[in-house]
Amino acid sequence: MTQAVRVIFLGPPGAGKGTQAKQLAERYGIPHISTGEILRNAIAQSTLLGQKAQAYVDRGELVTDDLMLDMIRERLQEQDAKNGWILDGFPRNVAQADFLEQLLGELNQEAKQAINLEVPDGIILNRLLQRGRKDDQEDTIRRRLEVYREQTAPLIEFYRQRDKLYSVDGDRSPDTVTQSLTDILEAATSPSNGNCASAPSEGS
Ligand code: AMP
Repeated sequence: MTQAVRVIFLGPPGAGKGTQAKQLAERYGIPHISTGEILRNAIAQSTLLGQKAQAYVDRGELVTDDLMLDMIRERLQEQDAKNGWILDGFPRNVAQADFLEQLLGELNQEAKQAINLEVPDGIILNRLLQRGRKDDQEDTIRRRLEVYREQTAPLIEFYRQRDKLYSVDGDRSPDTVTQSLTDILEAATSPSNGNCASAPSEGS
């Protein structure tokens, strides 16, 4: 692998984005940037950001773009993000995706793939109920799934139009999913395969 890995994880809450992003970040020695985790830490430490974000996170709503855009701009400019990153939980709506595209242009970077981890709704609900995070109560989970469908799912089309979308079946063992993901990343970043990498998925 000679080129930087820069990948965005799409997919509903509970699809396994965090688990997979962690594995890949370790494998490639790049940061796993989870905006949800940054917010949970800010809330735990009661920083100004945490205080502003808490009510949204507790209700399963998206935190306002003004807070999120500043956060991601700062995070992507940190030293450890210069040579690659895995974004988990950002962008979450079209305005954030537009902003990210512009920001990456300024930084002379490009997200190479957007991976849509697909898991059926019934399985997601069960997975989240078992996880037991504070925002994993059933009402909040239902709201987060609605928010996902209304605001985040349109990004599937956004990245498909840019030929960056790869859909991966997330309803398999974690190791099997990780293997599919590394195949995608390595096919697309290996110079010898270059443009012959498996074509972006046509599926949703
Ligand atoms: P996650 O850990 O990605 O499921 O995020 C947990 C919660 O953090 C979400 O339900 C939102 O309230 C908030 N959040 C995380 N990422 C974003 C984002 N990119 N934009 C707005 N809110 C976010």
